[in-house]
Amino acid sequence: MPHKKLESIISSLLEVTAIKLPTDVYASLQKMRAEETQTLACELYSCIFDNLDKAELLHRPLCQDTGVLQFFIRAGAHFPHLDILEESIFTATKLATESVPLRHNTVECFTEKNTGNNTGKLSPWIEWEIIPGDDLHIDVYMAGGGCSLPGRSKVLMPLEGYEGVAKFVFDTIVDWGVNACPPLVVGVGIGTCAATAAILSKKALLRKVGSVNANPQAADMERMIKEGLDSIGIGPLGLTGTKSVQCVNIEFAGHHPATLAVGVTVGCWATRRGSIDISADLASYAITSHS
Ligand code: SF4
Repeated sequence: MPHKKLESIISSLLEVTAIKLPTDVYASLQKMRAEETQTLACELYSCIFDNLDKAELLHRPLCQDTGVLQFFIRAGAHFPHLDILEESIFTATKLATESVPLRHNTVECFTEKNTGNNTGKLSPWIEWEIIPGDDLHIDVYMAGGGCSLPGRSKVLMPLEGYEGVAKFVFDTIVDWGVNACPPLVVGVGIGTCAATAAILSKKALLRKVGSVNANPQAADMERMIKEGLDSIGIGPLGLTGTKSVQCVNIEFAGHHPATLAVGVTVGCWATRRGSIDISADLASYAITSHS
């Protein structure tokens, strides 16, 4: 019964992701709390950690907004259950909606009717990547309303260059970041068109907080934008503090010489993503995002 097995594994991933922060995000908040000096900000970090402790103790979602689910699949070309994977993801979403429970978030376009089970047309959203091998790797991201609000992408005018990229990120976070329950995880995508920049900015959120970009120029840009955003002092929940963001992660793609597009996607303090490796025979799996 590979259907049932796969549904149960994916549902377990959703449960963990809704209730606990990934290890890197938790560690990043601990570090920010330890380094914070402003009284109100310290109090807010205490509330955040009290909230996290209670969620785990009571086995409940750590935020009421469990988001709309987005899956990023890296499937081995020889993974034997590719044909049932999409259906299993949809069924697992319905199961987790009941069992965790996840808030009923998905509404259909135009009718604006809530489906009541977190599934709908192209929802959960699934991004596919086929890789060598026969295993399956899944990242899931819970896209909350507040943290999705600042997201945007744009094709810059010629000659705006990388200064234009930085300006776009700053304008986005200064205008809208406060709505997204800081301290923020900022994903930046750079590509040819608005679509590639947007999806790369979302994929940037999948990279661990605190990791260093393999490209030295991108790493420099991440560091400089982070320092600039921190100097604004947005603080936890936007009520001021010594820092604003947990990290700035950049993903990029080769682009048309005439166009440089930039996308920004934001994760909140409660950036919930989960990662799992599943063996080809479904006999074993490992959730790698959480301790
Ligand atoms: S922005 Fe994040 S922490 Fe704030 S309500 Fe939305 S999901 Fe929850």
